[in-house]
Amino acid sequence: MTKSPELTQLLDELRDAGITDKRVLHAIERVPRELFVPAAFRERAYENVALPIGHSQTISQPYIVAVMTAALDVSDRHIVLEIGTGSGYQSAVLARLARRVFTVERHSAMVKVAEDRFKQMRLHNVTTRFGDGTKGWPEQPTFDRIMITAAAATIPDALIESLADDGVLVAPVGEAKKDQTLMRIQRSGETFTTEDLGIVRFVPLVAGLPRSAGR
Ligand code: SAH
Repeated sequence: MTKSPELTQLLDELRDAGITDKRVLHAIERVPRELFVPAAFRERAYENVALPIGHSQTISQPYIVAVMTAALDVSDRHIVLEIGTGSGYQSAVLARLARRVFTVERHSAMVKVAEDRFKQMRLHNVTTRFGDGTKGWPEQPTFDRIMITAAAATIPDALIESLADDGVLVAPVGEAKKDQTLMRIQRSGETFTTEDLGIVRFVPLVAGLPRSAGR
């Protein structure tokens, strides 16, 4: 596959911004971001910016996707849980690196659109779910890696409890519409080690399902 000049430029920008993880850069190279943004923004798909995706939600800035994916330290042995499917872009990047990705979204219309995109890309290792991600994925006892792509003041207990031994969780922690801290939590037995990865801005993690409008 030949890279478009826009994608080449984005990858250069990510490298210049300090993204050195070759596997992460390669995964980003292998996900056509134009497939994940609304038609009106297609020509801006490879700009290093967050873009609106409807329902007051945003597809994250590629730099943040790269930072979070690198921090998650994903390998092809890992089962990954993502909370906040949104456009499906981050799920697709994770699917290029992981054995399997489970992703949860509370807007059913967004789940359907994301599923179509995964099909179009022939990503067979992504499983979607319409539901409240703060409750985790009850049928799957633990996950090697967990990424939350919406911000909460505290990380829901169900998600902390779903982290496998030696597991890693990456999430923005803080209030909506304010600067939040990107946190990396590594589990080792019953010890959870927390690392602060810097300031980010995410839409809020909202418990429960939307009223009819979002369905
Ligand atoms: N990872 C996404 C970013 C989406 S923005 C992407 O790459 O495009 C955050 C998403 O989290 C939104 O779609 C929002 O609806 C969803 N979200 C918020 N609270 C949630 C919850 N409790 N359960 C599941 N999804 C949630």
